[in-house]
This record gives sequence, C-alpha cells and structure tokens, in this order.
Amino acid sequence: MNTDVAIYAEDVTVYKTLLESTRAIPWKIDWPTLQFAYIGPQIEELLGWEPQSWVTVQDWRDRIHPEDREWVFNFCVAQSQAGIDHEADYRALRKDGTFVWIRDVVHVVRNPDGTPNALIGFMFDISERKRTEQKLLDMQRELEELSFKDGLTGVANRRRFDSVVDARWLEAQMAGQPMSVVVLDIDYFKQYNDHYGHLEGDECLKRVASSLAGIVRGPDDLLCRFGGEEFVLLLPNTDAATAMALAWRCLDLVDKALIAHAGVGHDKRVTLSAGVNTLVPGEGDSVLPFIGVADSRLYKAKERGRHRVVAEG
Ligand code: GH3
Ligand code: MG
Ligand code: MG
Repeated sequence: MNTDVAIYAEDVTVYKTLLESTRAIPWKIDWPTLQFAYIGPQIEELLGWEPQSWVTVQDWRDRIHPEDREWVFNFCVAQSQAGIDHEADYRALRKDGTFVWIRDVVHVVRNPDGTPNALIGFMFDISERKRTEQKLLDMQRELEELSFKDGLTGVANRRRFDSVVDARWLEAQMAGQPMSVVVLDIDYFKQYNDHYGHLEGDECLKRVASSLAGIVRGPDDLLCRFGGEEFVLLLPNTDAATAMALAWRCLDLVDKALIAHAGVGHDKRVTLSAGVNTLVPGEGDSVLPFIGVADSRLYKAKERGRHRVVAEG
C-alpha cells in the first residue's frame, strides 16, 4: 500500500473513532439525492432507531414532533438552499413513541457555484437543558404570582393594584363607563391587637380577607390588601348603586364571619367601615384623587360611628 494512502486511511479511522465516541451525533446528507450518506451509531442509543433506518430526508422529517415538524423542515430547507449554516431545536421521536429535545447544528457544504452539495451536522441531546429551562420558567411564573400576592392573607397586594389600576382607568375613560372603588378598613383593630396580641391580629386579617374573597364577581373586579388592616375593592364598569350594594355586602360578609372582638366593637365582633366613590372618568380626572375621595368617605364612616358605608360628601 502507498504510504500516503495508508496515512490517509489511518486518519479516517481516527476521525471516525473520535466522531463516534462523542455525545454529539454526526450525520451527513447528500443534497442532490436528499439521502443520508452517514449517521453516527450513537443515534440508536439516543432515539432507538438503527443507523440503517435513516435513509432519506423524509425519515428525518417523519421523526420530528408534529408540532415542530413544519417550521423545522421549512426552516432547514430554506437555510440549506440559501447556503446558510443554521441550527434548530426540536423534539425528535424515539422508537418507543416518546420524544427527546434535540439541537441540530448544520453546516452547508457548497459547490464552487454556491449550490448546496451536502449538509453535515451534529445532533445534540438538549433534554436536560430544556428541563432546566422549563423549571426556570415555572419558577419565574411562581415568583411573579407571589410578588402580586399579599404574603399574609393571600389576596392581591398593593403592587398588583398599582399594576392594573391605570389600565382599568384608561379603559373606563375610553368606553365612557363608570369606575367604582370601595375602601374598607377594620374597626378598632388596634384594640384587637392590644387585646389578643399581634399573632391573633394576623389571624383576624386572614379571616377578614377570606370572608371578603367571595365579593369578587369576575376577572375585572380586584380585591387587594392595600396595607395594614385596609382593603380596596376596584370595580370597573360598576355604577354607584351597585358599588354601594357591594360595599354593604362586604360589611355583611365580615359580620357573618362572627370574629369575636372582646375589646370593643359592635356586638363584640370584628366589623368594617367603608368609603365608596364612583366616576365616569373624564379627560382631566386621575386615579389618585378618585381613591382619595373614597378614603375621605371612609373616615367619615369612622367619625359617624364605624360599621357603615359612606358614599357621598
Ligand atoms: P379605626 O377603627 O379608626 O380604624 O381604628 P383602628 O384601631 O382599626 O386603626 P389604627 O390605624 O389606629 O390601627 C391599625 C392597627 O392595625 C395598628 C397596627 O398595629 C395594626 N396592623 C397593621 N398591620 C397589621 C398586621 O399586618 N398585623 C397585625 N396583627 N396588625 C396590623
Ligand atoms: Mg382600622
Ligand atoms: Mg387603617
């Protein structure tokens, strides 16, 4: 044997051994025939399909998850035709019917005139990375939910209120619809803490919040803990009479919860006071003064003896 040929043959063996001993799975597709010229034997361990079962591009296409198939195929064909190296992440079908996330990294070998001659590439198993990504996304969603939730009572928090109120206000302005707000505050709560202790005070806040949770009529209503022992009910597209009725219903729900208040309070139980405001927001109106009016009405309710709703003045 000619020495050059012998060295060449030895090189080929080295490269082949190298390629077939990595976790990346090498492959080659002959462009004019669209047939596999080669696929690394590692493919069988990953997907279960024997190397000889990869004959045409169609075999590859058929083994892509139906949801990924169209875009992956069209993308890879378009890039290959344009002579552009590319990569695609997709779910590959295993022989047992399950799927594995794959990253296919493709190099286009071109003829002197620029047309594709062959595609060579590597398939990588990226299922672990995808699992981590999914876990991160889940955690992110969970964090986002938590950041909008009051830690003690589980109802929406002030951040949540701030994040939606402007959009709701604008919607009401554009639609010419009334917006209502009910500001609710526990009566004599300082005495409650003084009498039962702060931890019991926390329990009371939880009970009040869960009694109020039923007031929400749908996804547009928002009940949130505004701070301390104060709750706010935002009621888009709600007129004054309905808002007034809902405010009284809030008081009623807490009355019915029969939370004992041995210190003071009406009938020795925990009660609420409420201030209500309703407005069809015009050009010059803004949210803060609108809530401010409800707040000042709440203090009128306190002055007038608590455990009542004030919606005027
Ligand atoms: P009013 O009837 O006029 O509303 O009187 P009040 O005692 O309810 O109101 P005040 O503002 O004087 O006191 C509110 C109390 O609420 C004081 C504060 O210690 C308590 N408080 C605020 N946040 C919390 C909390 O998260 N847990 C507990 N246990 N108490 C809280
Ligand atoms: Mg209070
Ligand atoms: Mg208060």
